[in-house]
Amino acid sequence: MKCLKDIINFYKNTSTDDLAKTADNICTINYGKNIFIRGLLEFSNYCNMNCLYCGIRKDNKKVNRYRMSIEDIIKTVKKGYQSGIKTFVLQSGEDHYYTIEKLCLIIKKIKESTNFNAAVTLSCGIKTRKQYLELKKAGCDRYLLRFETSDEKLHKYLRNGVTLKKRINAIMDLKDLGFETGSGYMVGLPGENETTRINNALLCKKLELDMVGIGPFIPHNDTPLKESIQENIELVVRATSLVRLLLPYANIPATTASGTLDKIGREKMLKAGANVLMPNINDEKYKKNYLLYPGKICIEESGSQCLSCLNKRVSDISKNIVMDRGDSLSFLNKNKSLVKEKI
Ligand code: SF4
Repeated sequence: MKCLKDIINFYKNTSTDDLAKTADNICTINYGKNIFIRGLLEFSNYCNMNCLYCGIRKDNKKVNRYRMSIEDIIKTVKKGYQSGIKTFVLQSGEDHYYTIEKLCLIIKKIKESTNFNAAVTLSCGIKTRKQYLELKKAGCDRYLLRFETSDEKLHKYLRNGVTLKKRINAIMDLKDLGFETGSGYMVGLPGENETTRINNALLCKKLELDMVGIGPFIPHNDTPLKESIQENIELVVRATSLVRLLLPYANIPATTASGTLDKIGREKMLKAGANVLMPNINDEKYKKNYLLYPGKICIEESGSQCLSCLNKRVSDISKNIVMDRGDSLSFLNKNKSLVKEKI
């Protein structure tokens, strides 16, 4: 399948199982049977935004808000590093308490405390280009900024006035500044249809993303979208396969949200083109207060319990957990060609 049209036709006319098998083959050719591990650390559940679907939106007064101290963050990272994790994803709401100076300090301290062996990914929302540059200079390797839907009207509605363009511009800034750049979307949002879902995947392709996170929309009772319909996991599995066909070298996590919607949702994604898992390494006291969606799994378990559970789940589907940095091949390939151009 060479052109986009062929891939989309194949997607439209192929059963979910066959689509998954094809995507899994492509993933295996590029990444083998390896599944990369990221240590996820949700360091603040404060957010200035009011996205309609999100459980920690500013107007949800039921949330028990927390902010982790820098010391606590570093302590958690060190513990994760000692257990073998080489990539840390630091996520928060759009919380301006953590200024760029504070974030840079956190990045530098993580780098020092892991002997500069670990990759740092930030996921803390839209910032200015200048601020992203500061983060890059401090040593931040990767940045995640999901666009959630490629439908402009729906985006503006769901994100309380923030335009898709603003988000895409921020993603372009990140790419331009040399971050390994991730984005992604939700599947099953109220107001989306099959065309939206295809366009979501095509937008990932257009942006030539290094990482793509795909998760199901799960209605949260304390949000304006609480009455929305819950779609089933199949849409997520199909989306995963389509993105793998379009972006053979990207890293694609099997998201915890999928494991929440379906007991073996993560395994289904891993058998359909995904190659990354992101166990939450936070203390349980924080985990239970970072509920973007209800019923989130793995909040009672410690990071090490999650790791051993994931090890078993991955070996049950004949794949292997790998504790490397796990840079995306698309990012490494781009950089190789940059080096060649310079020579
Ligand atoms: S989706 Fe992100 S930006 Fe929107 S309210 Fe939730 S945490 Fe804040």
